[in-house]
Amino acid sequence: MKILAVSDQIEDTLYTSTVRERLGHVDLILGCGDLPYYYLEYLECMFDAPLCYVHGNHDPLVEYSSTGGTKTAPDGGDNINMRCVQVSGLLVAGLEGCIRYRPDGNHQYTQSEMSFRAMSLLPDLLWNRMRHGRWLDVLIAHSPPLGIHDMPTAAHTGFRAFVSLLRAFTPRYMLHGHRHKNYGAGPTETLYGKTRVLNVHPYRVIEID
Ligand SMILES: [Zn+2]
Repeated sequence: MKILAVSDQIEDTLYTSTVRERLGHVDLILGCGDLPYYYLEYLECMFDAPLCYVHGNHDPLVEYSSTGGTKTAPDGGDNINMRCVQVSGLLVAGLEGCIRYRPDGNHQYTQSEMSFRAMSLLPDLLWNRMRHGRWLDVLIAHSPPLGIHDMPTAAHTGFRAFVSLLRAFTPRYMLHGHRHKNYGAGPTETLYGKTRVLNVHPYRVIEID
Protein backbone atom coordinates (compact mmCIF):
# COMPACT_ATOMS: atom_id res chain seq x y z
CA MET A 1 0.00 0.00 0.00
CA LYS A 2 1.46 3.31 -1.10
CA ILE A 3 0.73 6.31 1.08
CA LEU A 4 1.36 9.96 0.33
CA ALA A 5 1.55 11.91 3.59
CA VAL A 6 1.59 15.71 3.54
CA SER A 7 1.72 18.51 6.08
CA ASP A 8 2.32 22.17 6.80
CA GLN A 9 3.47 23.46 3.44
CA ILE A 10 2.44 23.24 -0.19
CA GLU A 11 5.12 21.27 -1.97
CA ASP A 12 5.74 22.70 -5.44
CA THR A 13 6.77 19.33 -6.86
CA LEU A 14 3.39 17.89 -5.81
CA TYR A 15 1.23 20.86 -6.74
CA THR A 16 1.84 20.33 -10.43
CA SER A 17 0.03 18.67 -13.30
CA THR A 18 2.79 16.06 -13.67
CA VAL A 19 2.64 14.77 -10.10
CA ARG A 20 0.82 11.59 -11.10
CA GLU A 21 3.51 10.66 -13.62
CA ARG A 22 6.22 11.46 -11.09
CA LEU A 23 4.88 9.50 -8.10
CA GLY A 24 2.75 6.92 -9.88
CA HIS A 25 -0.22 5.27 -8.22
CA VAL A 26 -1.06 6.27 -4.64
CA ASP A 27 -3.54 4.27 -2.54
CA LEU A 28 -4.14 6.73 0.30
CA ILE A 29 -3.41 10.37 1.10
CA LEU A 30 -2.88 11.32 4.74
CA GLY A 31 -2.98 15.00 5.72
CA CYS A 32 -1.22 15.95 8.96
CA GLY A 33 -2.51 19.51 9.14
CA ASP A 34 -1.75 23.13 8.32
CA LEU A 35 -2.61 22.73 4.66
CA PRO A 36 -5.21 24.54 2.55
CA TYR A 37 -8.21 22.50 1.47
CA TYR A 38 -7.64 23.28 -2.21
CA TYR A 39 -4.23 21.61 -2.03
CA LEU A 40 -5.63 18.48 -0.39
CA GLU A 41 -8.45 18.38 -2.93
CA TYR A 42 -5.94 18.74 -5.75
CA LEU A 43 -3.99 15.73 -4.52
CA GLU A 44 -7.20 13.70 -4.09
CA CYS A 45 -8.16 14.54 -7.64
CA MET A 46 -4.75 13.91 -9.21
CA PHE A 47 -4.28 10.53 -7.53
CA ASP A 48 -7.95 9.55 -7.39
CA ALA A 49 -7.20 8.33 -3.87
CA PRO A 50 -9.06 8.66 -0.55
CA LEU A 51 -7.95 11.38 1.87
CA CYS A 52 -7.88 11.08 5.67
CA TYR A 53 -6.71 14.15 7.52
CA VAL A 54 -6.46 16.07 10.78
CA HIS A 55 -6.25 19.80 11.36
CA GLY A 56 -3.18 21.74 12.40
CA ASN A 57 -3.02 24.87 14.51
CA HIS A 58 -2.86 27.15 11.47
CA ASP A 59 -5.92 25.69 9.76
CA PRO A 60 -8.71 28.28 9.71
CA LEU A 61 -12.23 27.26 10.67
CA VAL A 62 -13.38 28.56 7.28
CA GLU A 63 -11.30 28.73 4.11
CA TYR A 64 -12.17 31.51 1.63
CA SER A 65 -11.54 31.00 -2.06
CA SER A 66 -10.47 33.67 -4.54
CA THR A 67 -13.99 33.59 -6.03
CA GLY A 68 -15.65 34.34 -2.69
CA GLY A 69 -16.68 30.79 -1.84
CA THR A 70 -16.17 29.23 1.57
CA LYS A 71 -15.24 25.76 2.71
CA THR A 72 -15.07 24.17 6.14
CA ALA A 73 -13.52 20.92 4.94
CA PRO A 74 -11.84 19.52 1.84
CA ASP A 75 -14.37 17.90 -0.49
CA GLY A 76 -14.20 14.14 -0.28
CA GLY A 77 -11.83 14.12 2.70
CA ASP A 78 -12.42 12.27 5.94
CA ASN A 79 -11.53 14.18 9.10
CA ILE A 80 -10.41 11.35 11.40
CA ASN A 81 -9.75 13.47 14.48
CA MET A 82 -10.44 11.27 17.56
CA ARG A 83 -11.57 8.42 15.30
CA CYS A 84 -10.13 5.27 13.84
CA VAL A 85 -11.01 4.21 10.31
CA GLN A 86 -10.16 1.26 8.13
CA VAL A 87 -8.90 2.04 4.64
CA SER A 88 -8.10 -0.93 2.40
CA GLY A 89 -7.38 -2.98 5.50
CA LEU A 90 -5.18 -0.34 7.15
CA LEU A 91 -6.26 0.87 10.61
CA VAL A 92 -5.67 4.63 10.82
CA ALA A 93 -6.47 6.98 13.72
CA GLY A 94 -6.05 10.74 14.03
CA LEU A 95 -5.55 13.47 16.63
CA GLU A 96 -5.56 17.08 15.50
CA GLY A 97 -3.83 20.19 16.77
CA CYS A 98 -0.83 21.22 18.80
CA ILE A 99 0.01 22.33 22.31
CA ARG A 100 -1.93 25.40 23.46
CA TYR A 101 0.24 28.51 23.18
CA ARG A 102 -2.47 31.13 22.57
CA PRO A 103 -5.65 31.33 24.62
CA ASP A 104 -7.82 31.93 21.55
CA GLY A 105 -6.01 29.68 19.06
CA ASN A 106 -7.88 27.08 17.02
CA HIS A 107 -6.93 23.42 17.26
CA GLN A 108 -4.72 23.97 20.31
CA TYR A 109 -4.91 21.86 23.47
CA THR A 110 -3.26 21.57 26.86
CA GLN A 111 -1.50 18.35 27.80
CA SER A 112 -4.53 17.36 29.92
CA GLU A 113 -6.99 18.13 27.16
CA MET A 114 -5.03 16.00 24.71
CA SER A 115 -4.91 13.14 27.21
CA PHE A 116 -8.72 13.11 27.29
CA ARG A 117 -8.93 13.39 23.53
CA ALA A 118 -6.50 10.51 23.09
CA MET A 119 -8.57 8.39 25.48
CA SER A 120 -11.57 8.88 23.22
CA LEU A 121 -9.84 6.55 20.75
CA LEU A 122 -10.02 3.65 23.22
CA PRO A 123 -13.35 2.14 22.07
CA ASP A 124 -12.17 2.07 18.45
CA LEU A 125 -8.80 0.61 19.45
CA LEU A 126 -10.42 -2.08 21.56
CA TRP A 127 -12.71 -2.96 18.69
CA ASN A 128 -9.69 -3.19 16.37
CA ARG A 129 -7.96 -5.52 18.79
CA MET A 130 -10.99 -7.81 19.02
CA ARG A 131 -11.86 -7.68 15.34
CA HIS A 132 -8.41 -7.57 13.72
CA GLY A 133 -6.01 -8.79 16.41
CA ARG A 134 -4.12 -5.51 16.53
CA TRP A 135 -4.81 -2.08 17.95
CA LEU A 136 -3.72 0.29 15.24
CA ASP A 137 -1.48 0.52 12.18
CA VAL A 138 -1.00 4.26 11.69
CA LEU A 139 -1.56 7.23 13.99
CA ILE A 140 -1.64 10.60 12.27
CA ALA A 141 -1.37 13.85 14.19
CA HIS A 142 -0.28 17.41 13.60
CA SER A 143 1.98 17.64 16.64
CA PRO A 144 4.88 15.31 17.41
CA PRO A 145 5.01 13.37 20.67
CA LEU A 146 6.73 14.90 23.69
CA GLY A 147 10.47 14.40 23.36
CA ILE A 148 10.38 13.08 19.79
CA HIS A 149 10.95 15.63 17.00
CA ASP A 150 9.48 18.39 19.19
CA MET A 151 11.15 21.61 20.35
CA PRO A 152 11.42 23.33 23.74
CA THR A 153 9.27 26.28 22.68
CA ALA A 154 5.76 27.29 23.70
CA ALA A 155 4.30 26.31 20.33
CA HIS A 156 6.37 23.23 19.53
CA THR A 157 6.36 21.12 22.66
CA GLY A 158 4.98 17.69 21.81
CA PHE A 159 2.15 15.83 23.53
CA ARG A 160 2.78 13.44 26.40
CA ALA A 161 -0.41 11.55 25.52
CA PHE A 162 1.08 10.53 22.18
CA VAL A 163 3.99 8.83 23.92
CA SER A 164 1.53 6.85 26.03
CA LEU A 165 -0.43 5.87 22.93
CA LEU A 166 2.70 4.62 21.20
CA ARG A 167 3.72 2.60 24.27
CA ALA A 168 0.31 1.04 24.83
CA PHE A 169 -0.90 0.41 21.30
CA THR A 170 2.32 0.10 19.27
CA PRO A 171 1.14 1.36 15.89
CA ARG A 172 3.57 0.59 13.08
CA TYR A 173 3.75 4.27 12.16
CA MET A 174 3.07 7.64 13.68
CA LEU A 175 3.04 10.48 11.16
CA HIS A 176 3.11 14.11 12.23
CA GLY A 177 3.95 17.59 10.98
CA HIS A 178 4.22 20.94 12.82
CA ARG A 179 8.00 20.80 13.10
CA HIS A 180 9.19 22.38 9.86
CA LYS A 181 12.52 21.03 8.69
CA ASN A 182 13.89 24.55 8.35
CA TYR A 183 13.44 25.10 12.12
CA GLY A 184 16.84 23.52 12.56
CA ALA A 185 18.71 20.28 12.42
CA GLY A 186 17.25 17.25 14.11
CA PRO A 187 15.95 13.81 13.32
CA THR A 188 12.87 13.46 11.16
CA GLU A 189 12.55 9.71 11.66
CA THR A 190 12.75 7.91 15.00
CA LEU A 191 12.07 4.32 16.00
CA TYR A 192 10.20 4.44 19.31
CA GLY A 193 9.57 0.91 20.53
CA LYS A 194 7.91 -0.75 17.56
CA THR A 195 6.69 2.51 16.04
CA ARG A 196 8.39 4.45 13.30
CA VAL A 197 7.73 8.11 14.09
CA LEU A 198 8.01 10.19 10.91
CA ASN A 199 7.92 13.93 10.47
CA VAL A 200 6.24 14.23 7.09
CA HIS A 201 6.82 17.96 6.48
CA PRO A 202 6.31 18.76 3.66
CA TYR A 203 5.60 15.26 2.32
CA ARG A 204 6.63 11.62 2.42
CA VAL A 205 5.83 8.58 0.36
CA ILE A 206 5.50 5.47 2.51
CA GLU A 207 5.06 1.88 1.37
CA ILE A 208 3.27 -0.37 3.88
CA ASP A 209 2.82 -4.11 3.33
ZN1 LIG B 1 1.58 23.57 13.20
